[in-house]
Amino acid sequence: MNKKSFLTIAGIGLIALSVQAQMSGVNNMNTFNDFSDKGAEFLFPKLPFAYDALEPYIDKMTMEIHYDKHHRGYYTKFMDEIKGTAVANKSFAEIFDSVSKESTGVRNNGGGYYNHGLFWENLSPDGGKPSDKLMTAINEQFGSFDKFKETFSNAAATRFGSGWAWLVVNSDGKLEVGSTPNQDNPLMDVSPVKGSPILALDVWEHAYYLKYQNKRPDYIGAFWNVVNWNVVNKRFDKATR
Ligand code: MN
Repeated sequence: MNKKSFLTIAGIGLIALSVQAQMSGVNNMNTFNDFSDKGAEFLFPKLPFAYDALEPYIDKMTMEIHYDKHHRGYYTKFMDEIKGTAVANKSFAEIFDSVSKESTGVRNNGGGYYNHGLFWENLSPDGGKPSDKLMTAINEQFGSFDKFKETFSNAAATRFGSGWAWLVVNSDGKLEVGSTPNQDNPLMDVSPVKGSPILALDVWEHAYYLKYQNKRPDYIGAFWNVVNWNVVNKRFDKATR
């Protein structure tokens, strides 16, 4: 083998390794979203970006408190709640699918733990754009991307009190927008919107009050600058496979 072909093969090997590393990174990121986590493996997810990464749209102090106090609080309380119970051996999908039969603590803290994990994943300062496949589905369902944004923003703005706005793939394989109160989510049997969540937006006041005070619509408008479409695209592919 001459030097040039060795370097070429070594280069291909490095690319393959790097692709593999990226793929496994992607898989790790998606484990939180594949609903197969078992109780023994319930982990507190790492924030996938720095606290100040979403500035100026979502400020550093809000991110610090939101992740390290609120999210961690739901996680800790959830783990306390399920310790030594049958829930500890279930997946999120199993827990949420019959959450109406669980305690309020499991519903609220399990939801808070899970929802924030999804939310951080679908935020990024550099999140790409919707794939052609997702864009086609958005156009089919909502008429245009602007109409979709309007529908989603409206769901987020009109959710009374605390809750979440969602874009899901429903049981018909169609995109659907909706919102849930408190820490409920579309995997829960109690949810008014059901399906696989592919985009989440937290509209609790703790998510925006430090920067936006009572102006929730301004926060919702800013959110569109930091959507991680790369993750939303992957979730869409997975939900429609
Ligand atoms: Mn929150």
